[in-house]
Amino acid sequence: MEYPKIIKLPLEQYAIKPNLQDYFKMVKEFSGDKVSLELDWFDSEHINIAHVAIDSHLKTDRRDKKALIWESKKGEGEEYTFQDLSRLSNKFANVLVKDLGVRKGDRVFFFLERVPEIYIGILGTLKAGGVIGPLFSAFGPDAVRDRMADSEAKVLITSPSLKKKINEVIPELPALEHIILVRRGEGKVDLKDLFYDEVMAEASESFDIVKTHKEDYAIMHYTSGTTGKPKGAVHVHGAVVGHYATAKYVLDLQEKDIYWCTADPGWVTGTSYGMFGPWSNGVTQVVYEGGFSAKHWYSFLERKKVTIWYTAPTAIRMLMKAGNELPQQHGFDSLRHMYSVGEPLNPEAVVWGKEIFGKAFHDNWWQTETGAIMIANYPIQDIKPGSMGRPFPGIQAGIVDDNFNELPPGKEGNLALRPGWPSMFRTYWKKEELYQSRFKNGWYITGDRARRDEEGYYWFVGRTDDVINTAGHLVGPFEVESVLIEHPAVAEAGVIGKPDSIAMEVVKAFVSLKDGYAPSEELRHDIQKFVMKRLSSAAAPREIEFIPTLPKTRSGKIMRRLLKAKELGLPLGDTSTMEED
Ligand code: ATP
Ligand code: MG
Repeated sequence: MEYPKIIKLPLEQYAIKPNLQDYFKMVKEFSGDKVSLELDWFDSEHINIAHVAIDSHLKTDRRDKKALIWESKKGEGEEYTFQDLSRLSNKFANVLVKDLGVRKGDRVFFFLERVPEIYIGILGTLKAGGVIGPLFSAFGPDAVRDRMADSEAKVLITSPSLKKKINEVIPELPALEHIILVRRGEGKVDLKDLFYDEVMAEASESFDIVKTHKEDYAIMHYTSGTTGKPKGAVHVHGAVVGHYATAKYVLDLQEKDIYWCTADPGWVTGTSYGMFGPWSNGVTQVVYEGGFSAKHWYSFLERKKVTIWYTAPTAIRMLMKAGNELPQQHGFDSLRHMYSVGEPLNPEAVVWGKEIFGKAFHDNWWQTETGAIMIANYPIQDIKPGSMGRPFPGIQAGIVDDNFNELPPGKEGNLALRPGWPSMFRTYWKKEELYQSRFKNGWYITGDRARRDEEGYYWFVGRTDDVINTAGHLVGPFEVESVLIEHPAVAEAGVIGKPDSIAMEVVKAFVSLKDGYAPSEELRHDIQKFVMKRLSSAAAPREIEFIPTLPKTRSGKIMRRLLKAKELGLPLGDTSTMEED
């Protein structure tokens, strides 16, 4: 199938001025300073993320507006207004400061399910001047220990059942002083620990938010661990300027929107765009406690009348895999925009989205390190399926060669950014040298490879470590994977370079099939022929191996390094963020 080179969008439905001329004007006029004036600073140097996200709205009509509409796995609901979140997070801040002696800069970690207490706790910690560290609730004990030991967290908020999972590693965390347990109808608990409901019941509702400096540390997120050991990227309170501006101009969040971000708070998307971006814009968020389920997701989108939806390529591919009949039983009239981040979004998925929802997915690119969206397909621009879009106003991106000199349009190279935006990470926790090594010749080197076209759109090629060198050609795995999943039998594909004595490397593809297809020699040849026809013979996979599912990180990214290690019989390295079968 030939993809349209460009998808024209019906621009009337967008809130921001709908044409490219205006977009470029906006790029020129935009400066971090101008947007940041819209936020409620304490003074020109001091700002607090939780204050901006929640308490700043109390002076407005949004005071009684719903900030969080939560649905549990069992289908029960809870709702919190901005005022509710303010009050509860004040209480939590009092618990931390008055009861537990938490000081500015202390690390407070969260190992919790996606329950309202994680939102309240994170906001309360920020108000208290603490540094939050959210951990994905599906982590095993080693993953939790590594991150908590590295960060020397002083307080842990968890639940009785999750605590049971990590009991064995708690003695290995000497810096950990207090554990607060959130019990939601759970049974046995350790009497040594504090109970969230009990400490909160006694805490005062008024709290003087700590007047943090814009450069004070606020957030620690460990990277996904797709390419190696997860690193703790540290962000500051001033980052909220970036969360706010990108949520406003990329996600196009408006007063009446109902916004759903499917990312878990354990990953940066779940905080930057599952808390701070939308709430600093005063928008109502819906949260579903459970994980992925095609049936439930479609129904949730419809029932909650979601208008803006931010999700990820794996989820989209899983929806595609579940077939087109299911979504046809639902209506998605409320949807204004859909967005995707975390991995390359195959053109196939963009086109599928248009067919099912009548809207195209807007892909955007950023990293834990960048803290906020850097390159995006904006609502006001036509989409080129397969492209990540253009840099955010105020962000200067470039493609540089291996000596870190800028390359012209059309050339493939290292994706780099000029440092200096507000949500940029300030260090890797206790790995300052590694942090410094990411800056070359005035650029922040992202570790991804890409190219830019004449119109300034960026095209993802692959992670630097994943790019394949075969017979003198550089082949990006994304291109090959995208063609593979166009084949009717293919659900997902991961492509690696396999060492070869003649070609240096050859392209090898791991493929999982859609329901209703079984591996066979015939199918293998058919897929090979299919790819060969669309790509150069160098890029067509020499080998195809069928596997039931691809190894992924908990945040849903295909772990090519694991496919490669298995292929070569090498040690698997850090697998703490890997999904279990
Ligand atoms: P680690 O750094 O530990 O290996 P990670 O890079 O997967 O893990 P994240 O910060 O969660 O950790 O992910 C950022 C990376 O995800 C980007 O550098 C890029 O490789 C990939 N990515 C994110 N969004 C996109 C996108 N829209 N298109 C292509 N790749 C993307
Ligand atoms: Mg990375």
